[in-house]
Amino acid sequence: MFALTLTAELAGVTNLRPDDTEGSPFWYTFKVQCTSCRETHPNNVSVSRFEMNEMSGSRGEANFVWKCKNCKRESSATIMAAPKAYEQTEPPKAQKILEFDCRGLEFTEFIPDGEWLAEGVDSNTKFTAIDLSEGEWFEYDEKANDEVSIKELKWDINRA
Ligand SMILES: [Zn+2]
Repeated sequence: MFALTLTAELAGVTNLRPDDTEGSPFWYTFKVQCTSCRETHPNNVSVSRFEMNEMSGSRGEANFVWKCKNCKRESSATIMAAPKAYEQTEPPKAQKILEFDCRGLEFTEFIPDGEWLAEGVDSNTKFTAIDLSEGEWFEYDEKANDEVSIKELKWDINRA
């Protein structure tokens, strides 16, 4: 099992999570590497926990199936559960966002494409369509009369 963890400075917002439902799946984008030959996939790959793909030879299904062009070995990955929300803490702490099982491949980097959700800490204002791809996000919370932000994002993928 592997886990994607996030460490980030959240000001005025909490409960940061990918906008990921069956009706509107989130596509988790990664750089992927074959563990047999260490070849890295030339393109980033996107994985949804709601999409299943057949593995060859009746080995079942996985969210992501990849046949390495270099060594021809097939590998797969599956997201184990719904993502966990990142809670605002002071100082920021590393928190697990997503857990996945990888067979024959490793995700080496997470690229935070897609839309994220969060809430105002005291105001409970709902923020949607948060874009983290630039590495920071700024908004104004009308109810709290204050600026809110997400900064210093650090993504890690570790063996869980
Ligand atoms: Zn390979």
